[in-house]
Amino acid sequence: MHDLVIRNGTVVDGSGRPRFAGDIAIDHGVIAAVGAVAGRGRREIDAGGLLVTPGWVDVHTHYDGQVTWDPVLAPSSWHGVTTLVMGNCGVGFAPVRRGQEDFLIELMEGVEDIPGTALHEGIDWRWESFPEYMDALAAMPRVLDVAAQVPHCAIRAYVLGDRAHDLDLSDDEIREMARLTGEAMRAGAVGFSTSRTILHRSRHGLVPGTHSKPHELLALGRALGDAGHGVFEMVSDLQGQEPDLSWMREFCRATGRVLTFALAQSPMQPNAWRETLARIEELDAAGLRIVPQVPCRPTGMLYGLQSSLHPFITHPTYRDELAALPLDERVARLRDQEVRARLLAEEPSTPNAIAQALMSNWTHIYPLGDPPDYEPAPETSVAATAAREGRRPEEVVFDWMLERDGRQLLFAPLANYVDGNFDALREMMLHPRTVIGLSDGGAHCGLICDASMPTYLLTHWVRDRTRGERIPLEQAVRLQTANTAAVYGISDRGTLEVGKKGDVNVIDLDALRLHAPEMVFDLPAGGRRLIQKVEGYRATVVSGEVTFEHGEATGARPGGLVRGRAE
Ligand SMILES: [Zn+2]
Repeated sequence: MHDLVIRNGTVVDGSGRPRFAGDIAIDHGVIAAVGAVAGRGRREIDAGGLLVTPGWVDVHTHYDGQVTWDPVLAPSSWHGVTTLVMGNCGVGFAPVRRGQEDFLIELMEGVEDIPGTALHEGIDWRWESFPEYMDALAAMPRVLDVAAQVPHCAIRAYVLGDRAHDLDLSDDEIREMARLTGEAMRAGAVGFSTSRTILHRSRHGLVPGTHSKPHELLALGRALGDAGHGVFEMVSDLQGQEPDLSWMREFCRATGRVLTFALAQSPMQPNAWRETLARIEELDAAGLRIVPQVPCRPTGMLYGLQSSLHPFITHPTYRDELAALPLDERVARLRDQEVRARLLAEEPSTPNAIAQALMSNWTHIYPLGDPPDYEPAPETSVAATAAREGRRPEEVVFDWMLERDGRQLLFAPLANYVDGNFDALREMMLHPRTVIGLSDGGAHCGLICDASMPTYLLTHWVRDRTRGERIPLEQAVRLQTANTAAVYGISDRGTLEVGKKGDVNVIDLDALRLHAPEMVFDLPAGGRRLIQKVEGYRATVVSGEVTFEHGEATGARPGGLVRGRAE
């Protein structure tokens, strides 16, 4: 008798090999048989007509705070994610000295737009060191597995205190930061992360370490080499180009570890990604593993009346008279012709030039709609619609935002949409040296909701795409399972093979459907976050236990902490 048998499914096993009809048996949390399973299961799932895939492994999330109070970790868990990696982009909550909690929260709030009040109320700070944080995570049951990276900002704050932003450090200070990084790796951190982008700011300015010098990064990186495991994760404006490339190369050569960084097609340098990928192929030929991380849709800001950004949010009338009103009242006032005329006659009043440019980038703002369209045709943009209808872009946007009782969202891709389609993105996704990531699950609560990316990989890329080539099912599944797990050295999962972990999705591909994102106020202290619901996951299984069935949580909490260790 097996613990669980998933029967008669179309198995897409994550290795990339062709789908086949078969059963999966799981015993003691581990896959015991694949193919035709004769023995019965104490529990059986009929997967006739359904896909059976490994659980998704999402390597780029920011649940570092939420994970300490929320065992469900939605929306990622709703979307078939069974393993997620946190601690990306240099921000997180361990190590932490007493009295520094607020500073780390402010960094997370500034960089990742997670409500500080929710973090204050939600986190209980039962740890000081990174190993203690790991033990706290390990002690809490949850629906899926989590893995953590040690964040550069926290290491800097711990060692440097008030001087966390300083660039000139003593050898002793660097040595101490490297020691703490090594301690975290030995406690099972799966990586170290840092931010080198001017987009990541808090009320203290750029985050600590943004302009850290190569010798500091290399010293911390060597702690990964000494530990014999771990990924160096980075977000950088340089996109893998010089001067970053020199120390990245040096890091790989000195440590033998993997380095991953966010790669995008940027509107400023639309072809730089090709050069970067060419350089990385050369380095790969020399045995150096640099793995650009790419999303499966543009990182999209969602403008709406409940979002943290929209085109009228800094207009004086909106800011002074409307912003504080409950949504329904605000919508009623905005429908008033006098208010409308007044707002449309005003200008944005933000001193932030970047925000101002983003909010009026009319050729790259689209209605998201329901079902959401993340690859909208250029002729549907605000600019194109305004030109066609002989109206001002502001009028078009104003009316769109009032649709769906003021809950309509507008899609404003930040990058990866320079040509108005996904052709460049597809090339990046399918490049043999890249990995799928950047869902940012748990973060950007007021503006971005991309935790659904693993679902989108199937709905859009495998099934629905009409504006260009799709991606074969077997390849898409491998991108989100075996490939992501392999980059992080989490080798006990990612494929449906005997001996691998019993993490499985049973999916009705025809019925798989993403809902439009919506704002809810369910974080601690009533904090808001965008969520996105989904239909079509028939069952999600973690370690052989069914965690979700027909989209409902079963209450099972088989998820644990993944500890990285030397391979
Ligand atoms: Zn991130």
